[in-house]
Formats: sequence, C-alpha cells, structure tokens
Amino acid sequence: MSNTYSCSDGSRLKKSVIDRLIVKAKAEKVRQFIDEHGYVFCEECYTSNAFKFDMSHDLSVNKCQQNGTTELAFDVNNISILCRKCHQIKDKLF
Ligand SMILES: [Zn+2]
Repeated sequence: MSNTYSCSDGSRLKKSVIDRLIVKAKAEKVRQFIDEHGYVFCEECYTSNAFKFDMSHDLSVNKCQQNGTTELAFDVNNISILCRKCHQIKDKLF
C-alpha cells in the first residue's frame, strides 16, 4: 500500500490515521505545556505576546515517515510551540 508509513516497530499506519494522531498530539502538547507553565509562550524566543503560535515538529512529519519512525510524528516530545516568526525561521533552516 502506498499511502501507509512504517513505525520503528514495523507496523504500518495509514496517512489518515497518522494525521488524526498528529492533531491529538498537538492538542496534548498544549495541554501539557499549560499544565506545566500556566500559559503558552514560544519555546525559542519565550515571547507570550505573539500574533499566532504554531505547533512545530522538531523532526518533520515527512522525515519521520521517510525514516520509518512514523510514531515520532505524533510524539508530544517531538513537537514544540513556536511563535509564527520563529517557526518561519526554523522552516527555512530545514
Ligand atoms: Zn519565537
């Protein structure tokens, strides 16, 4: 099947399942972050006063899928909260 990607345990997930798990992981990331810090701020520049915050993958979803470590795409520890400005800078670097 072309529209599935491997996890490191050898199991394969459909893209639609992966996308759903990513949405859940991002929501969980915000929940954990607010639980720990009490509010949302950029993990790169620490601003809490951004126009918009983005959920950024440390290892991109594409790389996770290509590497056969698809589970990292929905691992909360692989997601950072960045302000839009830092997110744009980061995406240019990778
Ligand atoms: Zn920032």
